[in-house]
Amino acid sequence: DIVPLNLIAVEVAATRDSRILPLTPGLDEEWFAHDGQITKSEIRAITLSALAPRAGELLWDVGAGSGSVAVEWCQRHTRNRAIAFEARCERAERIARNRLELGGLAVEVVGAAPVGFVGQEAPDAVFIGGGLTEEALFEAAWAALKPGGRLVANVVTLEGEAKLAALHAEHGGSLRRISIDRLAPVGGKHGWRPAMPVTQWRVEK
Ligand code: SAH
Repeated sequence: DIVPLNLIAVEVAATRDSRILPLTPGLDEEWFAHDGQITKSEIRAITLSALAPRAGELLWDVGAGSGSVAVEWCQRHTRNRAIAFEARCERAERIARNRLELGGLAVEVVGAAPVGFVGQEAPDAVFIGGGLTEEALFEAAWAALKPGGRLVANVVTLEGEAKLAALHAEHGGSLRRISIDRLAPVGGKHGWRPAMPVTQWRVEK
């Protein structure tokens, strides 16, 4: 059983076999159904910190993958909501499963961006985890973002970095690079396995 993020439910329903959700973002990947395309827990914790959710706010999670960022955004407050834009059907279905199991019922799943942006409620924050290099995607998200809203984009490719460098030159904000190594088996011993470094841009409108 997974106990949804609801403090009363946790107290009442927790049994020896229950998995109790911790209060901080950056859940282990194993909490989510995913196919490997998921923001790693350490990176996700930093990403949620950069998105700085406040009570009652709406997030657009663009290139949502497993929906982990949208789900963790919604876990921060009962009134938080997210719209997850995911181009691939099997991943969109997984987001629906993850939101059910992890208490993120406030996540709405929509198809590909930027076409999916049309007609959606303006967000307080935008996370771009995929599709940044696509024509007009950033511009459409930026136009929709409420004044004073936050936009965070994570990339791992050279092309993504080139786009971020151009956007940073145009809009300012801050850039950082995050590297995580995890211990892994090497033969009979162990060694540090680096994940691809993530370059993150954060900007306020
Ligand atoms: N943050 C996600 C992982 C993102 S991986 C997580 O934690 O699970 C990037 C995702 O972006 C992929 O699932 C890919 O299918 C999606 N994507 C790429 N371009 C897109 C677009 N234009 N619209 C919607 N999704 C897109």
